Amino acid sequence: MPKETFKYTNNEMTVVWKPSMCTHSTVCWKGLIRVFNPKEKPWIKMNGAATEKIIEQVKKCPSGALSYFLNEETAKSETADME
Ligand code: SF4
Repeated sequence: MPKETFKYTNNEMTVVWKPSMCTHSTVCWKGLIRVFNPKEKPWIKMNGAATEKIIEQVKKCPSGALSYFLNEETAKSETADME
């Protein structure tokens, strides 16, 4: 099974999608079609909703295929690692 990971980002956050874990439950696109639309490419549109809304929806993914991280926190911890 392919272990591919796709990342979608806006300035504030990054959504990570692992297709091999996706159970096509439809939860994400029924909840937030402006961002998660499997009929379009890319199927995740990071400018479709506010960051908080996207995070809320990502947390509802039942399979764990969707996850996210905040860009700022990652940048901070990377900076901290270098010090
Ligand atoms: S909510 Fe998660 S498991 Fe369901 S379709 Fe979206 S990514 Fe796949």
